[in-house]
Amino acid sequence: APALSIHDLRKTYARDGAKTGVEALKGVSLDVMPGDFFALLGPNGAGKSTLIGIVSSLVNPTSGQVHIFGTDLVRNRSAAMRLIGLVPQEINFNMFEKPLDILVNYAGFYGVAREEALVRAEEELRRAQLWEKATVMSRTLSGGMKRRLMIARAMMTRPRLLILDEPTAGVDIEIRRGMWKTLREINEAGTTIILTTHYLEEAEHLCRNMAIIDRGRIVEQGPIKALLAKL
Ligand code: ADP
Ligand code: ADP
Repeated sequence: APALSIHDLRKTYARDGAKTGVEALKGVSLDVMPGDFFALLGPNGAGKSTLIGIVSSLVNPTSGQVHIFGTDLVRNRSAAMRLIGLVPQEINFNMFEKPLDILVNYAGFYGVAREEALVRAEEELRRAQLWEKATVMSRTLSGGMKRRLMIARAMMTRPRLLILDEPTAGVDIEIRRGMWKTLREINEAGTTIILTTHYLEEAEHLCRNMAIIDRGRIVEQGPIKALLAKL
């Protein structure tokens, strides 16, 4: 089964006092294969956050189907969610905790035994180039380190699909490169990754396949190299 399969997905946000709502998604269909590094590219307001919100169960779709590795997201939500790791845009860990504790506590919240959590935490901190910072106060980490810690945390539940909504929005090129390296290693180790971005350059550097979304519709979809040749 595809890592993510979306069929005719629609989302209309209700507007108070208005007969018609905002049609954020107007019938989106999309397949992302296991192992892919997939970019959803589009300008502001295109519907990227809405699509990611639906896939991560934060937003209810108006209609349509979503399957995660064959599991129906609407009918079997908790099983589907166990397959997903989500990296939120906002850094939201406790700045007065240490990276190691942040990761171990997060895994514990999802039912991972402490011993196993410690093994995973070391692996993720090393992959995010944060092992040397495992026991410093998180407040003292650089901006790039904080972003990579967000990625490391999402990996603690061993998701098969990692989802990032504009992971590098508003960060400088140095920080972006560090995040790219971590994400590439995660993908090379077998995790499927989907990210949204409005930087074509980011999609080009990182991803294999891409869908371009504009005003709630997919306007192009396929291997990035083929799409770039058309643009
Ligand atoms: P993107 O992430 O590509 O910038 P969004 O999914 O955030 O796009 O937004 C798509 C459209 O839906 C926009 O017109 C936006 O204003 C609208 N929208 C997004 N979230 C809401 C919401 N909670 N309520 C009403 N309209 C929304
Ligand atoms: P994005 O990160 O996609 O740019 P925004 O900053 O536009 O998101 O939106 C922040 C929050 O406000 C989100 O929860 C989004 O769903 C909501 N939102 C966005 N557009 C609208 C809108 N037109 N009306 C109501 N809520 C909105």
